[in-house]
Amino acid sequence: MIHEHPDFDGHEQVIFCHDSQAGLRAIIAIHSTVLGPAAGGCRMHPYANEADALTDVLRLSKGMSYKNSAAGLPLGGGKCVIIADPGSPDKPALLEAFARHVQALQGRYWTAIDIGVGPEDADILAQTCDFIFARASQYEPGFNPSSFTAYGGFVGIRAAVKTVLGSDDLTGIRVAVQGLGATGYVLSKHLHDAGARLTVTDVRPETVDRAVAEFGAKAVSPDAIHMADVDVFAPCALGAGLNDRTIPEIRAKVICGLANNQLAESRHGQALADAGIAYVPDYVVNAGGMMGASTVIFSELSRDASIRRIEELHDTITVILETAASEGRPSADIADEMAAGRIRNAAAK
Ligand code: NAD
Repeated sequence: MIHEHPDFDGHEQVIFCHDSQAGLRAIIAIHSTVLGPAAGGCRMHPYANEADALTDVLRLSKGMSYKNSAAGLPLGGGKCVIIADPGSPDKPALLEAFARHVQALQGRYWTAIDIGVGPEDADILAQTCDFIFARASQYEPGFNPSSFTAYGGFVGIRAAVKTVLGSDDLTGIRVAVQGLGATGYVLSKHLHDAGARLTVTDVRPETVDRAVAEFGAKAVSPDAIHMADVDVFAPCALGAGLNDRTIPEIRAKVICGLANNQLAESRHGQALADAGIAYVPDYVVNAGGMMGASTVIFSELSRDASIRRIEELHDTITVILETAASEGRPSADIADEMAAGRIRNAAAK
């Protein structure tokens, strides 16, 4: 029974989608529509079984409710997973069959890109469905909505540095960037342009060489980046990087990066607070992509409006870090309470 699933959290609706002709198996989870239509990306992954897919979609959809709420967006939380290999030649047919299920919801749920589903795939979904955002055709050729996420990271670092070090002038501020992919590389460019001094790493040497040449960055090995003698550590690669092994070795006073699920376990939020490190909760600072790309759901598509909305992260992050410092509590707990509180207040009206 789904209501007894350990990750069930009062989700409004969970829909199992099937299309025998296309071979589609997918699940849509709408966690909350209290703040507005549920919104969250579409993941395509060859899950080992349906139980794993269900666990993932229940967790991810709740996460979207919190992310959209903390970002101040007029959106609820939802997510969908398609159980398939994104490299499959059947991908276009699967996307088309899936889009019919999203269309049937008539705007209760909007979807977009995620792991295995890119902006060009979102355009395929949009051929059959009116409730798709972050489509390649909505932007100029070559624009990647991840750039919105990267800009949010830059705004977040400025806010955190101001709170902890007293000025948001990044000239000479030392930042270690872990992972130079779609988000980390663009974040590094913003930081370099603002005068920050970069230490970088990646498992792909060619992208490290590029950052050294373009930004004058210092390169370190992937297993040493968290120990760098810097002011800010920006994890932009994998999750669970903040754990029992790494936290005692971190020298930065601020952690603000774009990777998802940075805390290995929730207790590591307290460990960071105890170590006197200001941690910007990942789902708050990496909401820039959602904030930028989702504009089309509730207003006209405008790059300026997207950027202005992302800049609001500055105040949100300042409040979270100041509250955490004054109450001596983990910033992640403050963010969760803020996000849940906004949903609760809206539901009570
Ligand atoms: P990406 O795949 O483009 O980049 C990740 C980079 O990390 C790659 O260059 C990879 O080589 C590198 N990497 C992998 N393992 C590493 C290691 N052990 N040490 C150092 N570098 C390593 O991904 P992305 O889109 O930049 O996303 C990065 C993180 O941010 C992910 O956790 C993602 O879920 C999260 N995120 C991304 C977005 C977005 O808009 N792209 C939005 C929200 C959250």
